[in-house]
Amino acid sequence: MNLFDLTGRVAVVTGGNGGIGLGMAKGLAVSGAAVVVVARNPDKSAAAVAELKALGGKSAFVALDVADAASCRATVGEVLDRFGRLDILVNNAGMSIRKPAETYELDEWLLVLNTNLTGAFVLCQAAFAPMKAQGGGKIINIGSMMSIFGGAYAAPYSTSKGGIVQLTKSLATAWAKDNIQVNAVLPGWIDTELTRRAREQVHGLNERVLARTPAGRWGVPDDLAGIAAFLASPASDFVTGAAIPVDGGYASEF
Ligand code: NDP
Repeated sequence: MNLFDLTGRVAVVTGGNGGIGLGMAKGLAVSGAAVVVVARNPDKSAAAVAELKALGGKSAFVALDVADAASCRATVGEVLDRFGRLDILVNNAGMSIRKPAETYELDEWLLVLNTNLTGAFVLCQAAFAPMKAQGGGKIINIGSMMSIFGGAYAAPYSTSKGGIVQLTKSLATAWAKDNIQVNAVLPGWIDTELTRRAREQVHGLNERVLARTPAGRWGVPDDLAGIAAFLASPASDFVTGAAIPVDGGYASEF
C-alpha cells in the first residue's frame, strides 16, 4: 500500500497557474492526480498545464474568478462533467491590497475578502455533495503567517487569512463524519509574483525576511509540494482541522 498514491484522483487547484498554487499542483501531479488549474489568466494557465502534463499526469484549465460565487459553483459542475469526480480541492487563489487600514474603500475590503475567503467557502460548499457521494474528500485551504500575526498594511488580507483557519476548523468538524478532511497550510515568506511586488514596495523587506526566518532563506513554491501531497493522500486520513505552517520556522521563533 502506497500511502501517498493519488492515482485516479481529481484535484482542483485555484490559482494553480503560478507561485504556491503551481508548487502544490506539481506535488499532486507527481503523486498521480489529474490536476485542474483554475484561475483567470489563460496564457499563464496554459503554460502551467503543459508543465503539469510533462510530469506525467492529466491536467486541464478552467477559467474562473473566485470572487464570483455563481462561477465558483459552475466550475465545480464543469469539473464533474469533464472529469467525473472531485477528490481534492485546494483553495489557494489570493491577493492583497496594501495600504493603511483607515484608507480602505469598502470595495477594496470586499474584493480581498471575496477572493481570499468567500470564494474558498463557496467552492467548499459546492464540493461537499460530490465528495460525500464519493465517500470522502480532501480540502486544503491556504492561510498565511497573517493567519497568526496582524499586518499593519494588510487589514483585509490578514482578516481573510485568519478567517480561513476558522473556516477550516468549522468545516473539518462539520464534515469529519463524511470522511472529508479539511486542513489549512500557512506558508511563510515564499518567493512568488505576490511577494516580488511586496519586495519592490516595501524597503528592506528582503533583509527583514532573511533575518527573521530561522531557515535563513525565502521559501520557494516547490517547498509546498510535499505538504499538498500529504494532505491530499490517505496518509492524512485522521488529520483534520489543522493549520500547518510551512515557514522555515518563522512562526515558531519569539
Ligand atoms: P501569486 O500572485 O503568485 O499567485 C496568486 C494566484 O491566485 C495566481 O495564480 C492567480 O491567477 C490566482 N488568483 C488571484 N486572484 C484570483 C481570482 N480572483 N480568481 C482566480 N484566481 C485568482 O501568489 P502566491 O503564489 O504567492 O500566493 C498563493 C496563495 O498563497 C495566496 O492565497 C496567498 O495569499 C498565499 N500566501 C502567499 C505567501 C507568499 O509568501 N508568497 C505567504 C502566505 C500565503 P490569475 O491571476 O490567473 O487569476
